[in-house]
Amino acid sequence: MAELKPCPFCGSKPMLTNSSLKLTTSGERIYGDIITYWSVRCNNCGVEKGGFLSEYFFTREETLKIRENYNGKAKAIEAWNRRAIDEQKVL
Ligand SMILES: [Zn+2]
Repeated sequence: MAELKPCPFCGSKPMLTNSSLKLTTSGERIYGDIITYWSVRCNNCGVEKGGFLSEYFFTREETLKIRENYNGKAKAIEAWNRRAIDEQKVL
């Protein structure tokens, strides 16, 4: 798995965090399951890149689906690193 790049704004080492969300959608068989929300955050300047849910997602019709082979952690790292590279280009 890729290493986290430093914050594009202050150069600090960011933190990869995850928190659990309990699903409350009714009418779904997996009602009540816990899903994991991944995000990368710089505690020094407060920049955050997140919103990556492992395994589950909502369709446009708000039906809950299971995403096969989805790695929320890897996606969060990838998105953070991409942004770090983009911001450095701008600077
Ligand atoms: Zn920062």
